[in-house]
Amino acid sequence: MTNRKPLLDDRKETAVTVARTGLPALVARHAEHTPHALAVADGDTTLTYAQLAGAARRLAAHLHEQGVRPGDFVALLMPRSARTVVAQLALWWTGAACVPLDPAHPGPRTAAMLEDSGATLTVGDSKLLEAAGTPGATLALPGDEQLADAEMPGDGPGPDDTAFVMFTSGSTGRPKGVAIHHGAIAELVTDPDYVTVTARDRVLLHSPATFDGSTFEVWSALANGAAVVVCTTERPSFEDLAKEVERHGVTVAFFTTALFHQLAARRSRVFSLLRTVVVGGEAMAAQHARAVLRAFPWVELVNGYGPTEATTFATTHRVTDADCDGPVPIGRPMAGATAHILDEAFLPVTDGAQGELWIGGSRLAHGYTRQPELTAERFVDHPTLGRLYRTGDLVSARPDGVLDFHGRTDDQVKVRGFRIEPGEIEHALREQPDVDDAAVTVRRPTPDDARLAAFVVAAPGPVPRPDALLGRLTALLPAHLVPAELTVVDRLPLTTSGKVDRRALADLATAAETIGAAEPLTPLQQAVAEVWSRSLGCEVTRPDADFLDLGGHSLLALVVAEELREDLGVELSLPDFFTAPTVAGHAALVERALLAAHTDLHPDAPKDTDGH
Ligand code: ADP
Repeated sequence: MTNRKPLLDDRKETAVTVARTGLPALVARHAEHTPHALAVADGDTTLTYAQLAGAARRLAAHLHEQGVRPGDFVALLMPRSARTVVAQLALWWTGAACVPLDPAHPGPRTAAMLEDSGATLTVGDSKLLEAAGTPGATLALPGDEQLADAEMPGDGPGPDDTAFVMFTSGSTGRPKGVAIHHGAIAELVTDPDYVTVTARDRVLLHSPATFDGSTFEVWSALANGAAVVVCTTERPSFEDLAKEVERHGVTVAFFTTALFHQLAARRSRVFSLLRTVVVGGEAMAAQHARAVLRAFPWVELVNGYGPTEATTFATTHRVTDADCDGPVPIGRPMAGATAHILDEAFLPVTDGAQGELWIGGSRLAHGYTRQPELTAERFVDHPTLGRLYRTGDLVSARPDGVLDFHGRTDDQVKVRGFRIEPGEIEHALREQPDVDDAAVTVRRPTPDDARLAAFVVAAPGPVPRPDALLGRLTALLPAHLVPAELTVVDRLPLTTSGKVDRRALADLATAAETIGAAEPLTPLQQAVAEVWSRSLGCEVTRPDADFLDLGGHSLLALVVAEELREDLGVELSLPDFFTAPTVAGHAALVERALLAAHTDLHPDAPKDTDGH
């Protein structure tokens, strides 16, 4: 039996109507109807809808004066703040598309993104622009107080105009820029039926602007007359997130699956404050979902599935306790998306069978910027089903049309919410003169952790040192693409068909930490080492043990910071964390913080010699 019809295609009339407008028109509509409603708050700045529209209009007029025209692609480099939202809106009001850049990315990566997106100008924060040494034309954005009131330079974008270019990992070694149009985002968020967002809600913006989760965070709020609460801390700790939610009365938040799992494992108090939690990026673990639903039964928990190419989410599922007996489903297609499960001959599979998920509908991206061949390969005109995107995801449908996710048909992996083509990292490694061949895989030292493990075959000559090789990669690739571990091997294991045997690699990739003769730890170092051991999933016995050498990464840093807070009552900021990422370094920071707290409580107590 075959199922040639899309599994669900009941777009709502409203969504279809809004899909015919660009995003600035949605803000203009609220500015007219509810001018005094809160639109954006970031701790320093609050903007009502009228103020947001006014500031964006003034900045748009300025950008127009500076030569920005409809159809231009303009890169944006700014720290996350209320001004980021103003700048995005202003760019769109001139008719330009926005290419978000990440200040943390290395120069060559940013240069490649600029080139592939076709951006002709980078605008943003003057200090960041200077520090990044962005190639090509740049323009520092003036503050609102420097701008005169102005009329809108044009009509603003239409639904088919590109809003964003979002980059994802590319297996050939170059990131792919996905062009996402206004109508697709408008349809994703306006009057959504998969999540409750009303004008009274406050939605947290904490994702990097280069990540399509941020599209949901900003636009689920602004499309519905709600407020965006911007977390300006670049890398917020779990405690920073909870405080932000508490301080601003946030009601709706999006978390990557990896972050959700960590928050769920600690029964974070964010869940007691939030009404709605949307999670996406990787398969949701049933035990974490169940723990949250049981401890915080009021939480509306939504599993959102979708590739960037289908505009953030394509299917969604409202998770209930009953879903948590097996793998949590990814749900049904939402407005603007259709789902088709096809076999290798592009025919629908029999009911209930596994097959590859192909997504259709009005929210599909227009394609990859400047990569027509790749676009043609992944976005295909199906003879009967229309234009479809080939996801590479294996799914099956339940009798009621709810989809289950079963993994990938290719090597693509997810690590901490980042989509990664091992091929991109392998390519960067093979480009190194002392490397002959390379393979990259994922290792899971604990169920909630995933790390990239690289294996290289050295070129003839001196064998490269792993830390030196990884250091060179850091200058080329963003942090999430730099492997946590690298091992030099004589040859890569191959399958009988001659391909790299990734399963064998995963087995090879065991914690290769050799622990030498250990100096004794002080009691405080011992306490820190225990926290590290738990989080890193390996025994930590040396005061000079280095967090990054042991496979530590940003999410684990959050875990360690949170556990140090819980166990020792000391809050380490992430910048502090990484200035001294050894057991001894952390113990010294903890000691200093404890002494400072002690002298605050007992002003007469003797101070330590540094005067802290
Ligand atoms: P997003 O940022 O929306 O996760 P990406 O383009 O980075 O989108 O990654 C898309 C891929 O991530 C999907 O093709 C799928 O493999 C995986 N993925 C995303 N969400 C889920 C989910 N809820 N459950 C399982 N896998 C998911």
